[in-house]
Amino acid sequence: MLKRLEVKTSSRIQVIDITSHIKSLLKSEGMSSGHIIVFVPHTTCGITINENADPSVKQDMIDVLNTLVPENSEYRHLEGNSDAHIKSSIIGSSASVFVEAGALVLGTWQGIFLTEFDGPRIRSVLLKMIPDSTT
Ligand code: ZN
Repeated sequence: MLKRLEVKTSSRIQVIDITSHIKSLLKSEGMSSGHIIVFVPHTTCGITINENADPSVKQDMIDVLNTLVPENSEYRHLEGNSDAHIKSSIIGSSASVFVEAGALVLGTWQGIFLTEFDGPRIRSVLLKMIPDSTT
């Protein structure tokens, strides 16, 4: 069961909470127990799990990544988006989440985020739902 979400980003750098989309897909698939791998098949965005309560956490993440990896520097990559590639590798391209009783197992303050570093674009998020073996 490989599912695809499309996420439209609206700025060059953005952290977007996609938890509700994943919950909806999980509900429509009806998997009660197992895990989900969330993966982005892109080189300039990422997937991470972090706080979804205070929006300033997202902005702090963006600010620190921009300080560590500025948009313009003496990069060799001619496409002009080296910072986006590096930020993508720092964040990573996937996350795994447990599913129990038909629900995502996340901490109280956790959400699943797509991190855009070279938007705006339409991004694909692939989800592999792996049910527990019943044997
Ligand atoms: Zn590039």
